[in-house]
Amino acid sequence: MIRDLFIHICIMLASCFLGGMFFKNPHIIERFKERVLLGLLTGIFGVILMQFSIQIDENVIIDLRQIAIIVAAIYGGFLSSVCSSLVISVGRFLIGYNFNISSVLVVTIIIGILMGIISKLRITRKRKWLIMVMLSTFIFSLLLYSRVNHLPHYPHIIVLNWFFSLIGGFIAYQSVEYIRKSAYLSYEHKRQASTDFLTGLKNPREFDSLLSETLAHSNSKSRNLSLLYLDVDYFKQINDTYGHPAGDFVLKELAKILKESVRGNDLIFRNGGEEFAVLLLDTSTLQSNYIAERIRKKVEGHKFILGQEIIIKVTISVGVVTKTESAITPTELIKWADRALYIAKNRGRNQIYSISNYSNEKFITH
Ligand code: GH3
Ligand code: MG
Ligand code: MG
Repeated sequence: MIRDLFIHICIMLASCFLGGMFFKNPHIIERFKERVLLGLLTGIFGVILMQFSIQIDENVIIDLRQIAIIVAAIYGGFLSSVCSSLVISVGRFLIGYNFNISSVLVVTIIIGILMGIISKLRITRKRKWLIMVMLSTFIFSLLLYSRVNHLPHYPHIIVLNWFFSLIGGFIAYQSVEYIRKSAYLSYEHKRQASTDFLTGLKNPREFDSLLSETLAHSNSKSRNLSLLYLDVDYFKQINDTYGHPAGDFVLKELAKILKESVRGNDLIFRNGGEEFAVLLLDTSTLQSNYIAERIRKKVEGHKFILGQEIIIKVTISVGVVTKTESAITPTELIKWADRALYIAKNRGRNQIYSISNYSNEKFITH
């Protein structure tokens, strides 16, 4: 019996670990597809638990399948909970070595629904765990009682059932919470290491690695890749006149404009200070110039509302370089984008300057 309990707990820990790997992003379980997936996975985990049940005596076996449903309910809500209980019921039906299977199926589904309802309560996760473990064990105890009350030692069986459920529930709670916390910390750590804290855009470190990555891909496939360098005109004056927080606000607004102006698969970076970069994938010279000009116009037309009566206008200069068929290194691409930006600034700011035929070092102006 202790051996069975040990195996049961090992399966639970292994499932929690695998689940933690699947759901690395702690926010992911909010989506419909992920909720169903969590329900299916915990359901499978419940079926495995049933296969390795705990033998109490020669006639009585119990298992902790309700823990699988509880995990689904706590982390995925009602949908996951019901999915999990359905998978367990189907699994139970397929295993089918119990003569009185229908009551077990009904009880499993009722538990799925009840756990789903409890998951909606506005109480702490710890309390939900406790209520769910107690309630599900109580329901399974009633079922167990109806089966074993003719046996002389049935109180002993019921007590063991409670004991195993509480131990299993406690271990599952501790391990799932621990894995989720570690997953969250590692997710946050990765996010912060690659994100600019002010604007939420990708940071210079990401710029270096993604530029090398995308450029290597474009070089090998002879695909186009455009790099836009954007710099706010006379930004220092904004800081000097309205203060640093106002400057920060302008940078955040610019980040929003950039996000709205490019396609979902294009990459936007804040490369420091008031300098931004955009990587446009598979874009011709003409298209990238068009996009750069569109961004410039949007910024020019935007009203930056700094306070009740303070509305300012901001302009940007943009350097554009497009790599077409021939291969180029990241350093070279950056050099040409920098040069294009420098020319745009020198020509009076609030404009774009584009270089496409850099191999001949000839500049094409737009
Ligand atoms: P130009 O048109 O030549 O680009 O002029 P500029 O004033 O924009 O350029 P300059 O490089 O002289 O000034 C950039 C300013 O950006 C200086 C710095 O104080 C400010 N800055 C850098 N990072 C931040 C930031 O995170 N927040 C704010 N508010 N200001 C910043
Ligand atoms: Mg600058
Ligand atoms: Mg500037």
